[in-house]
Amino acid sequence: MLFRKIKGVRIEGNKQMSRCAPLRDYLDPPVVSIPLLQGMSVLKPAVEVGANVKIGDIIAYREGFGAMPIHASIAGKVTAIKKVWHASGRMVEAVEIENDHSGALSDSIQPEKNPDGLDKEALIQKMIDAGLSGLGGAGFPTYIKYQTKCPIDTVIINAIECEPYLTCDFLMSIKYPEKLVKGLHYFMKAAGAEKGVIAYKAYNQAVEDAVKPYLERFPEITTFPLKDVYPAGWEKYVTEAVTGKTYPKLPSQVGVIVNNAGTAIAYADMVENNIPLIARNITITGEGITNPQNFYVPFGIKVAELVALCGGYQEGLDPKYAWYIAGGPMTGKAILIDDLVVNDTLGAVIVIPTPKEKLHPECLGCGKCADACPAFLTPTEIKRAYDMKDETAIRNLQADKCIACGLCSYVCPSHIEITDAVVKARDSLKKGA
Ligand code: SF4
Ligand code: SF4
Repeated sequence: MLFRKIKGVRIEGNKQMSRCAPLRDYLDPPVVSIPLLQGMSVLKPAVEVGANVKIGDIIAYREGFGAMPIHASIAGKVTAIKKVWHASGRMVEAVEIENDHSGALSDSIQPEKNPDGLDKEALIQKMIDAGLSGLGGAGFPTYIKYQTKCPIDTVIINAIECEPYLTCDFLMSIKYPEKLVKGLHYFMKAAGAEKGVIAYKAYNQAVEDAVKPYLERFPEITTFPLKDVYPAGWEKYVTEAVTGKTYPKLPSQVGVIVNNAGTAIAYADMVENNIPLIARNITITGEGITNPQNFYVPFGIKVAELVALCGGYQEGLDPKYAWYIAGGPMTGKAILIDDLVVNDTLGAVIVIPTPKEKLHPECLGCGKCADACPAFLTPTEIKRAYDMKDETAIRNLQADKCIACGLCSYVCPSHIEITDAVVKARDSLKKGA
């Protein structure tokens, strides 16, 4: 196969707004509503209204592919099972828990006597028992990656956080460098891998400085700075940059597993203290937020509560002229956020006032979208094929290779939402398959 180096584009980061705000724990909200949806899987509740739960008690199960339990993120009483807004842009059922502020922990949360004595099987079982899913945005059950039949020689921790505006992974990495390194160490044992690599953006030298003292114990772990381009955090990009290898479908095909930095930190807590996945880091930012900040919060907390902690919306913000984005600006979803709750995939909420002047909706045929596409696609042709419902052309144009990175829309001088069209074309192939 002809080797083609993946392209990346330098884009305005806008990270300065929240980068200097420390990662703030906010773990004791009055109420949480934990969504009963993970990826495409609807979860089955394991508690009834009126039940009392402790932090870490099982409250639901994901069944079928990726089966695993989901846990209470605060202690208190289950007061309802009701619909809330989810990061996917859908309303989904959620388990509402009213906080009793006791901080009571589930009996299962106990220090592990000998974490270094755990073998591969036990380490993978920890991922299942703890309900570990990737915190990088996809929410994929982590243990599935580790049950691969492919031999794995390298585990890469993705601390790159390439989307503009987002800073909570960076802050998490420099706040918990020891856990980051230990999480990677346990991942390597679970994979049977000899090498571990922490990949970060070169300008985030603070990540390297923070982890360095902990690497002395683990000489098989190294760091790897990447240049500041988008989408440097895409699995394929980071795998190619670190190992020089490219793969057709999954990194495991070239002996690699990639995990997000926050996932590694959570895993260290699981292995050493049996703490399930119940919380995550999130950035609340954008020109429409008074005082952008980063938080570490329990799943199910209302985003509106975090916006209030940031001093609310900028004075004079006109909701008619603002984007409310759940996730990063390149791959997130536009959504009304007042009833949105935090789940495993939600790493940011961004509020951006939009220009009021009229945009140019017509395509200029400039080809910038194709030039920028890291998957080497021609978005305008895919859009044309989709508009004409020409499935053969969509297939021939390889729309299935789109990673929904949003770059084609980002670079378009006419501000055409070309990503939407390509993603719809891609998904139409899945439906027709
Ligand atoms: S969204 Fe899809 S088509 Fe657009 S640049 Fe990214 S990969 Fe290419
Ligand atoms: S970047 Fe925008 S204007 Fe240029 S070809 Fe692509 S869709 Fe058309």
